[in-house]
Amino acid sequence: MNSYEVTQRNRVRLMPDRGRYDRETVYGIVDEALLCHVGFMDGEQPVVIPTLHARRGDVLYLHGSRGNAMLKHVQAGGPVCVTITLLDGIVFARSAFHHSVNYRSAVLFGRGRLIEGETEKLSALETLTEHVARGRWRDCRLPTARELELTAVIEFRIESASAKVRAGPPRDDEEDYALPFWAGELPQRQQALEPVNDPKLADGIEVPDYVAAWTRQRPA
Ligand SMILES: Cc1cc2nc3c(=O)[nH]c(=O)nc-3n(C[C@H](O)[C@H](O)[C@H](O)COP(=O)(O)OP(=O)(O)OC[C@H]3O[C@@H](n4cnc5c(N)ncnc54)[C@H](O)[C@@H]3O)c2cc1C
Repeated sequence: MNSYEVTQRNRVRLMPDRGRYDRETVYGIVDEALLCHVGFMDGEQPVVIPTLHARRGDVLYLHGSRGNAMLKHVQAGGPVCVTITLLDGIVFARSAFHHSVNYRSAVLFGRGRLIEGETEKLSALETLTEHVARGRWRDCRLPTARELELTAVIEFRIESASAKVRAGPPRDDEEDYALPFWAGELPQRQQALEPVNDPKLADGIEVPDYVAAWTRQRPA
């Protein structure tokens, strides 16, 4: 199936024309974003925690210290909601009311499980590392058995998802278009600045291409 089933859980009710349910759109948002926010219930208390993620098919990998409370909750198998946001622009309208933002966001519903096997764990960590910077996994020291032991890796399976997308100029009220206020979009994107060498960097090591050319812009 190329789209997630639309149910009571994932149907975009407000501005439904902005809702998308096809995997291509959802995956595109998930893959472009460096990080996500994981929401879950800690007893009576909702908690939302930012963390890195990486996707393979309908699975997101999350990782962290074995003591990480969020990962403990997710691996316990309770319902989880992961949110991902890409900010594409600030939309300036003539009226305060119609100011907005252009964005692509995804809301993912599902459950997690702890990955135990060493091969599966290493493979998930490779996916996570490559999500951050493609090429890094083969250009660093890989985890020792002890480091693997200290790291919890979670597989979050996407059961249901929605995306929401706003693009384009402001939508002012017809009678406001003649007002003498600037209106338009200030586009935004995540941009890397110049890499900074570690002061302890050994001599003769150049910045690798995958760092120098790092980008998370959407493909043209
Ligand atoms: C960067 C950014 C800034 C925003 N700022 C505002 C703001 O200031 N005020 C405001 O009211 N809204 C804002 N929104 C939109 C906001 O995310 C909600 O879509 C909106 O508030 C409607 O919420 P709701 O609970 O009524 O959604 P409903 O339509 O009732 O939600 C039902 C289901 O639709 C899906 N859904 C809803 N919103 C999203 C979404 N954004 N992405 C993917 N799936 C979604 C989920 O599956 C959800 O369970 C912003 C969105 C982004 C990405």
